[in-house]
Amino acid sequence: MVATVLVGMLCAHLLCFAVMFLLISKRLHGKKMGMDYFAMGNLLLGLAYVLQLLEGGPAWSLMSVVNHTFSLASPVAYWLGAMRFFGYSVPLWHPLLIFSVSYGAAQVLVQWSLGPVARYAMLSGMSALLFFVMVMTVIYGIRTFARDLYGEMVFFAVLISGICVLNALKFMKLLEGGLDALQMDGTFQKVFYIYMSSLATVLPPSIIWLVLRRLTDELRNIAARDPMTQLFNRRGLTDALKQHFNAREATPAYLLIVDVDHFKRINDTHGHQVGDTVLCHVAEVLGATVRRGDLVGRIGGEEFVVICLEGDLAGVMQLAERLRVAIEAQALRISGVAQPLLCTITVGVSHAFARAEDLEEAMQQADAALYCGKAGGRNRVELAQPVYNPA
Ligand code: GH3
Ligand code: MG
Ligand code: MG
Repeated sequence: MVATVLVGMLCAHLLCFAVMFLLISKRLHGKKMGMDYFAMGNLLLGLAYVLQLLEGGPAWSLMSVVNHTFSLASPVAYWLGAMRFFGYSVPLWHPLLIFSVSYGAAQVLVQWSLGPVARYAMLSGMSALLFFVMVMTVIYGIRTFARDLYGEMVFFAVLISGICVLNALKFMKLLEGGLDALQMDGTFQKVFYIYMSSLATVLPPSIIWLVLRRLTDELRNIAARDPMTQLFNRRGLTDALKQHFNAREATPAYLLIVDVDHFKRINDTHGHQVGDTVLCHVAEVLGATVRRGDLVGRIGGEEFVVICLEGDLAGVMQLAERLRVAIEAQALRISGVAQPLLCTITVGVSHAFARAEDLEEAMQQADAALYCGKAGGRNRVELAQPVYNPA
């Protein structure tokens, strides 16, 4: 009786979350993050347990064959869904169909050749194996593609290991004691269903949490980046600077404003689109030339900002000169434009500043220096005038 209630609750959880996953995947439009696959996994497992309730006990019937096939196809769908979540483009229907047909055929073969115990043992053995593969994938993910979700991945690995161990135990119990091991109200089965019910309650909200984390990260990134060059925008620079200065041992920063010389001419001569390509090229060169830890952003049309978070004035002036030379040296070939395009930049450098609130002032200092650089002939680096201190 207890086990039947547990399995009933398990079905309700699985099917409700299948609907929820499906609704979320519909809201996510193009990038579903595997939610439609998770919905399928939950649906298959939910239906498998419904069939189990209808069957009552071990039997050789079409219902039982479908039940076993659905039970095993669901971890396959979960595994494929996880791959989708991490950006791998894997299909759902093909592998699921091939797996289901093969496993259906394998069941018929095993039932006829080795008997019912072997068929039930095969289900437990295969479940243990599939969940083991899942745990291994999660552990591999912790070190590679899912490094940013360390805590969550460890949590999943522990929970899935539990299912793997329980299925391995069931496999051994079946081999030792035959179909009696599957008594619905036996202690082992009760523990098994309590664990599965807990998982069906805990895992789906955890998956929704992962999706929520990814979405908010993406939104934060969109709000902090310039869409054309993917460099920081003003907001992104301010946030990154605040983070830097919040660190206890933060060093003073220097701000460089980089302005492309005579950029209007490029637009007027070759068109706005070529102008955009040049801006992306400048962004790339700046990004490749700055040092690790420096911040690079685009704050206006053809104006970029580099914030050096480490080093002294001499090092910053050297970096500014390196940026100028790098842009001057790299001609840009664009299809449809006969000659390689050459452009230059003028760089204005601020004094050191040590608080995020001083960003505006540093910007003004660098801008004034930039203005001097433009007046002095362009393609040069100019340091801000010393600040007059009447004390
Ligand atoms: P200077 O050497 O004094 O900096 O001259 P300049 O021509 O580079 O400066 P000016 O400020 O006169 O011109 C900037 C031009 O940048 C004008 C504007 O049309 C263009 N611009 C602004 N944003 C974009 C953009 O996103 N894409 C393209 N292609 N052009 C842009
Ligand atoms: Mg300019
Ligand atoms: Mg400008």
